[in-house]
Amino acid sequence: MEARCQCGSLTATIDDGAEPTIILCHCLDCQRRTGSHYGSIAYYPGEAVALVGEAREFTRPTDAGNTFTSGFCPRCGSTVYARASRLPEITGITVGTIGDPAFPRPLRSVYEQSRHHWLTLPDDMGHHPQGRNS
Ligand SMILES: [Zn+2]
Ligand SMILES: [Zn+2]
Repeated sequence: MEARCQCGSLTATIDDGAEPTIILCHCLDCQRRTGSHYGSIAYYPGEAVALVGEAREFTRPTDAGNTFTSGFCPRCGSTVYARASRLPEITGITVGTIGDPAFPRPLRSVYEQSRHHWLTLPDDMGHHPQGRNS
């Protein structure tokens, strides 16, 4: 499976059979990162992902005192991957760059304290006001 930015110059190849943990995040940082109502990232074991192409990275602090780094195409601006300093062996791939509407749905929805008021999600997924331990 291949994820790619809008212009196609930054790609991520994901091993077939690698099991993602998919998180949907409503935090304001993810809203600004994506320019959309929420961000959604599929987290894979790092060895299952191969990145190809030039990327720039932006790192920000998290509420828990760690850092979150997103990698984006310097040409078209799409964020393709992300890494959290707390889990350095994991690579996140933004769900939108996978370009597959049949992709599995998120396991949990976090930072619902800043969820857009009109947005509803299935009851039978995890719902958290902040991080997964909230
Ligand atoms: Zn691009
Ligand atoms: Zn977030």
